[in-house]
Order: sequence, then C-alpha cells, then structure tokens
Amino acid sequence: MDLVNLKVAQQRVDFPTAVKTGLGQQQGLFFPEQFTPLDNIDALLDLPLVERSTAILKHLIGSDLADATIEQIVATAFNFPAKVESISNEVHCLELFHGPTLAFKDFGGRFMAQCLANISDGEKITILTATSGDTGAAVAHAFHGLDNINVVILFPKGKISPLQEKLFTTLGDNIHTVAIESDFDACQALVKQAFDDPEVRDGLHLNSANSINISRLLAQVCYYFEAVSQLPKEARGKLVVSVPSGNFGNLTAGIIAKVLGLPIKRFIAATNVNDTVPRYLRTGKWQPKPTQATLSNAMDVSQPNNWPRIEAMLERGEIKPAEIKGEMIDEEYTQLAMKQLAKQGYISEPHAAVAYRALTQHLEEGEVGLFLGTAHPAKFRESVENVLGQPINLPGPLADVAGKESLALDVDNDYEALKAHMFKVLGA
Ligand SMILES: *Cc1c(COP(=O)(O)O)cnc(C)c1O
Repeated sequence: MDLVNLKVAQQRVDFPTAVKTGLGQQQGLFFPEQFTPLDNIDALLDLPLVERSTAILKHLIGSDLADATIEQIVATAFNFPAKVESISNEVHCLELFHGPTLAFKDFGGRFMAQCLANISDGEKITILTATSGDTGAAVAHAFHGLDNINVVILFPKGKISPLQEKLFTTLGDNIHTVAIESDFDACQALVKQAFDDPEVRDGLHLNSANSINISRLLAQVCYYFEAVSQLPKEARGKLVVSVPSGNFGNLTAGIIAKVLGLPIKRFIAATNVNDTVPRYLRTGKWQPKPTQATLSNAMDVSQPNNWPRIEAMLERGEIKPAEIKGEMIDEEYTQLAMKQLAKQGYISEPHAAVAYRALTQHLEEGEVGLFLGTAHPAKFRESVENVLGQPINLPGPLADVAGKESLALDVDNDYEALKAHMFKVLGA
C-alpha cells in the first residue's frame, strides 16, 4: 500500500511505517495516493462481517502484511457485531456500540492495537493520544496489558462524561491518563507538539492512536459495508448516510467505502454547534471558532484533523462536493431529536441524535436514510436521563467501572509540564 504525506508530497511510506509513525513530516497526514475500486461488491456484501472485512483490508493493505496476519488481526479486533436497527421504513440506525467500550471507536482502536502488536517486533513504543471522550477508552482497552506498549492519554479535564472518563482512567498498568486543564483542541495541540519534539518522539518511540492513524480509518471502512449488507437490497444506491462528526475520521472512512464502490448515494456531515465544516462547505471559508462544550461532547472539535483527507478525495474527484452536505444541529434540536426517537421507541444519545436530526432535515423522497449510532446511550446516562426523564440501565462494562477510582493525574495546559510528566511516569 502506497501512502503519501498530504503536506510533504515527497514523503511516501508503506502501511507498517504509517501505522508506526502515525503522523508524517510537518504533521502531514498519510493517505493512499489513490484507491482501486473493489470489483465484486455484491458478492462481498453476501459474506459475514469478519470474512468480508478481511477481504476489504487485504485489498487496501495489499502485500504490506501477510494475508494470514490480516486474517488474524481482523478476527481478533472485530469480535463484536455492528447492527442495523430500523426506526421506520426509511430511517435506520447503524449501531456501532456493541464493543467493549460501547462506542464505535472500538473498531479502529482494536484494529490498530492488533496491527501495532504484529508489526512492532518487540520494540518498546509509547502511544500518545488525545481524546474528546471515546477514543481514550477504546485505545486504553485495546492496548491494556500488551507487552512493550505504554499508553498516555490526554483528555480535557471535566469536559467528558464521568462514566466515559472512568472507562479509561481506572485501568492502570501500562495505561497512563492525564487530565489537561483545557479543551480537546488544546490536548490535540499538545500531542502534535510532542510529535514535533525529537527528544520525545524518538526518546519514547511515540506513536499516535487517534483517528489520524491510517489503520483506524481503514478498519472503519468495513462497517459501512456491514450496514449495506444488512439493509434491504432496494436501498442500494438510494442510501443517504448521516455521520455525527467531530474529528471527521468516521466520515472519511465512509467516503473511502463509497470510493471503493459501496453503493451509497451521498453523505451528511452532521455536527453540533462546533460547525467549522458545515460552514466551510457552505461558504468555502475555513474559519474555526473557539470550541464550545455541548451534550455531544465527543464532537466538540473546531479544528478537525481528518479534513485534509476528505479535501484530498474532493480534489481528486473521487467524491463530488454535492455528495457531502453539511448540517449543524444545536443543543435544542439535539434534545428534540432524542425525544422524537424515544417516541418511536428508540432510546438514543446526543451524538446519534445530531445525525438523526440532520438526516430527517435532508432526506428526500425515494431515498433511504442511515444515521450512525456512535455510542451506547448509557455512556451518556446523565444527559439522556435529563432529556428523556427516564432511567437508563448500565450495561456490564459501565457498571463494572462506575464505582472505581480514577487514576488520572492533572497537568496544566503547558507543553514543558506534560513533557516532564511523561518522562517521569514512563521512567525514561
Ligand atoms: C469520536 C466520536 C464521534 C466523532 O467521530 P469523528 O470520527 O471524530 O468525526 C461521534 N460520536 C461519538 C460517540 C464519538 O465518540
């Protein structure tokens, strides 16, 4: 697989290098130079999830990993289902929250952990990542207990739900968690700075596990195929997919699936009030505003890291501007959407509700709508209970951590302080 740095075109790497280094020179993102469409989509759609995903990933990764390695990675990583639930005849939800940390980030996180464990040949590495909520838990669980891998997770202090936080701050062992006194964008900026600092990057063998890592995106491509396989055949080609977006990794993966030939008609890029992308799609101007805290906190991102990848596919003509519609859903409409879904017998949480609302605003006659359910409602229990006025049961993984102590340490939003902290806790 040939990957090119989208900022420094001369830097070309293979898949294992891109997975190990995360970001390229000048903080450029790695991305395939082009995609070769799959030619057997209908046959692929007939296969079960693991077999089909293995075939898609072999097609994408090529000979950079042995076929048997890819088979083993996929079977270990995708050991839970993705399920389409129908809300009505025209509107469906792809539930991506049946993994160990109850959010879609389990797909990418588990796949990436298995890739790294297979390609790092016993070399000691440090995963450094920032989370707006769910990445942290997925990454922490995916890497917990793996040999020779330390994980450092930065999160904005007090800005993610208490249960979300407990899912990754209570593990200990090789999982180190740091509460930064600021917002998610500040956490991302600190991660980028660390990757630009040779002392830290080389000294700790840094690797990033957030959605900028190409392995995570490739894994996510697979569940879009799974969704189409579960929908009625008549939906193929009429499908509008609404993606609740923050850092835009999920939408990037969906567009890749379409470029590979999956019959999706168009996408809706749904955001909360942190709407840099919907405004950009409307005006052509990239004007991030300060990040605002919302109910859909995993989408409180005003400088989405993955956008250059979507921009690249737009520039190459792989997707047309008309096939991506932006929509901002504010807090009031998010809550209204949760209530509308509950009335139809479907309990949802704020992220999926943003996507549902955007979908219902844009779905046209003759189209079939799919919105992505990115997290289990119990993960956002406080806000779901407040909005719907009814109690939510905690599924097993959350009930287990609810009573445990957080092991996170507080660090100021200051790069030197973070650097000193990392060398101290990693004993390097
Ligand atoms: C991370 C996350 C999102 C946003 O996904 P991106 O790939 O960053 O756009 C949406 N919903 C939930 C629940 C998340 O955890």
